[in-house]
Amino acid sequence: MILVVGSGIAGLTAALVARESGAEVVIATKGRIDDANTTHAQGGIAAVVSPDDTHASHWADTLRAADDTADPDAVMTLVEDGTDVIAWLMLDCGVVFDRDADGRLAQGLEAAHSHPRILHAGGDATGAEIERALIGAVRAAGIDVREHTALQDLLLSDGSVVGARLMDSSGRSVDVGAEAVILATGGCGRAYARTTNPAGATGEGIAAAMRAGARVADMEFVQFHPTVLADGEAFLVSEAVRGEGAVLLDDHGRRFAFDAHPDGELAPRDVVARAIADAMAKQRGRPVLLDATGLGAEHLAARFPTIDRAVRGRGLDWARDPIPVAPAAHYLMGGIVTDIDGATSVPGLFAAGEAACTGVHGANRLASNSLLEGAVFGSRAARAASRYRPTTVRSAAPIRPGRSARIQGDSADDFDREALGRVMWEHAGLERDAAGLDLAADRIEGWLSDLAEPSSVADIEDLGLLTVALEIVRAARTRPQSVGAHHRSDPALVPTAA
Ligand SMILES: Cc1cc2nc3c(=O)[nH]c(=O)nc-3n(C[C@H](O)[C@H](O)[C@H](O)COP(=O)(O)OP(=O)(O)OC[C@H]3O[C@@H](n4cnc5c(N)ncnc54)[C@H](O)[C@@H]3O)c2cc1C
Repeated sequence: MILVVGSGIAGLTAALVARESGAEVVIATKGRIDDANTTHAQGGIAAVVSPDDTHASHWADTLRAADDTADPDAVMTLVEDGTDVIAWLMLDCGVVFDRDADGRLAQGLEAAHSHPRILHAGGDATGAEIERALIGAVRAAGIDVREHTALQDLLLSDGSVVGARLMDSSGRSVDVGAEAVILATGGCGRAYARTTNPAGATGEGIAAAMRAGARVADMEFVQFHPTVLADGEAFLVSEAVRGEGAVLLDDHGRRFAFDAHPDGELAPRDVVARAIADAMAKQRGRPVLLDATGLGAEHLAARFPTIDRAVRGRGLDWARDPIPVAPAAHYLMGGIVTDIDGATSVPGLFAAGEAACTGVHGANRLASNSLLEGAVFGSRAARAASRYRPTTVRSAAPIRPGRSARIQGDSADDFDREALGRVMWEHAGLERDAAGLDLAADRIEGWLSDLAEPSSVADIEDLGLLTVALEIVRAARTRPQSVGAHHRSDPALVPTAA
């Protein structure tokens, strides 16, 4: 049996492809099946689907957005497989993408893409449509789905993963054996005070993999989305809105994005997010304005129905007035290291999607590449897991990796998620420096040392949040130079004006 953990695009794709490969499959997922970042994805999924676009162009755009830190071979796999995976999503799973007036697939333009190649559904409800179709396909395939079932730990035998300890919502744990486990548990945006991610993005899949000895990498590369509504609960205003012509203004009504990059509002995300943070610093922290008034009320409502509802629900009329936006934590580029077939450094353990680090994003992800990544590498991980045969003789009793011994009760203050969010936002956010990172590490280590063995899903999440937060901080400390989304502002590293 292959155990797939998580039911976003990566997990559902992995489950379906593993089943197509003939494997028995069980999906364990923490909440309802559609509780996933995938459901909230708006702008779309990037892929080469028209004859006037090329894989070479998508590949080059991806590498450029990543400051040339992405793995060129992994990116080529992403963009080449991407074309087939779109056909699979549409033809085998029934995903309905939007079409233009001529009946051709509608293709939008987003920041840092040199060609319109963003497929979308329901205007700006792309993730929800993909999730709907994949869930339908999973049900139709009769795959065993265990909702409200959280991964607590992986089970090891002779250094290989042989199953998982799962916990239900009443806190009852059960050990499940599996030939292979595919982790598709998504990211950890909830480690930050301000994030676009829904409540379940708490990183514990990555934390469990780390306890099982899996290698993680690039954890310092956290992407901050530039344009998140700064009125009430954080709500993402897709890049596609800027792709269609909306502009960013400071308090003086000036388009400041061109000060940072010749592509202005359509520069890579990290550049635009920092340009906004700089503009906010100059206006005492007040959010900047996203001016979409040029797009017209009708077009905004038709092309971006989800955003339109959210904006108007806050009493704002974005067809008439610019709306306040500010950056928020959005996406983890790093994660569990895998090869291009989803294999981690631990035999029997595979990973895909945002939880994994294949190297396709390097230090900065190109917009709309992550849904694609989930489908491409979810498929590849499923095929590899279906082929996987354990090579070692397994000991009778699988073991669960414990947490390393800690001194209990030495933290100066009590842990709560808000406090962690503030520490991460202030010291491991858009700008980092050595003093802030040291302070963050001290606080998080203190909180971690106080955590008892999880007895509820919330405890598992707390352990996940603190483990990945500490790893982000550790990784950021060891990279003194700025690159992509990791920006160091240490006085010694910032050139002083002559
Ligand atoms: C608001 C928003 C808009 C976005 N827009 C876009 C976009 O337009 N285009 C794009 O490409 N990307 C977009 N992204 C990013 C993209 O949605 C995600 O990177 C992608 O959906 C991740 O897919 P995934 O399958 O890896 O993880 P997810 O979709 O996050 O799924 C993770 C799954 O794992 C489960 N899980 C977590 N922990 C456990 C556990 N301990 N035990 C069991 N199950 C667990 C979760 O419940 C969930 O089902 C957006 C993200 C957000 C938040």
